[in-house]
Amino acid sequence: MAKILCIIDGMTDSGFFPKNYKNLSQMEFFGWEDTASGRTPETLPCVLHLLGIKKIPYYLRGYLEALGAGIPVEKEDLILRGSRYFLDENHVPSRPCNEEFQMEIEGGRYYPLEGYQSLFVFLKGAPLVEKIQTFGPHEIKGRKVEELQPTGHLLLEKVFQKGMQKDSCILLWGESVATSPPKRYKNWGMVTGKNLLKGMGKWLEMEVASLEGATGDTDTDLEEKGKKALELAERFPFVLLHINGADEASHRRNFKEKEEFLQKIDQQVLKKLLESKHEILVTSDHGTDPKTGEHLGDLQPMYKKRDRP
Ligand SMILES: [Zn+2]
Repeated sequence: MAKILCIIDGMTDSGFFPKNYKNLSQMEFFGWEDTASGRTPETLPCVLHLLGIKKIPYYLRGYLEALGAGIPVEKEDLILRGSRYFLDENHVPSRPCNEEFQMEIEGGRYYPLEGYQSLFVFLKGAPLVEKIQTFGPHEIKGRKVEELQPTGHLLLEKVFQKGMQKDSCILLWGESVATSPPKRYKNWGMVTGKNLLKGMGKWLEMEVASLEGATGDTDTDLEEKGKKALELAERFPFVLLHINGADEASHRRNFKEKEEFLQKIDQQVLKKLLESKHEILVTSDHGTDPKTGEHLGDLQPMYKKRDRP
């Protein structure tokens, strides 16, 4: 018998009630978890907290994104995240730009990822990680794009200038370097469609399942995810099943889409997990409010499958 930990990203908000879900309401509530623990409530620290990793390397995220996307990175390299934005008439980044884009950069490589996101790998740039200052999407706040140029090294300034088009720009931010994992989780299997979580799984040496229909959003193939989790549970004592779509629907401020997706998880995934012989735990990494589109740092409820009498 294995233990399957199902993390439903962004599940909770002030309108979330387990009694509204047929299968979740059959589970036993057994306590609250302070997943954010005073940090910004983001998926990465919150999921690591749930895995018992409380001390999180500071420059980690970009490295995990690279691992998740299968991008080769060496210990000496510097990784930066890229976010492409349209510019408004005042030269202020206004909204994400999903159009295809390619660029050649000196001393490194540019990798487009999903949507408006990308990664930059600067070869042998790791020593710069503490010397540079970058500005990410959360720091735009009406500032002109010129004020968001990274500082501390000419190469980054050049790349930023190169990414600047007439009506768009690429913000370079989230500096990161390769880091060894604090623990290894070789007896865990992981099911996720989200690149960051795939990278986390690989970093922790979990077996990360390959999925055909996982999108990391509400159009994901839930049946396949549930099936893979049960398959991995035959081979590993622990399985992490991460389902992302509810967080995305909340960011889109679409309450109805979130609610419908949670119902689908309840019927297509939870039902089958609860019918299995395995121990099942359900929780969320953090809440996401579909009214504001923002993450919430509240305590997260933990549910477990009831013991059969
Ligand atoms: Zn989110």
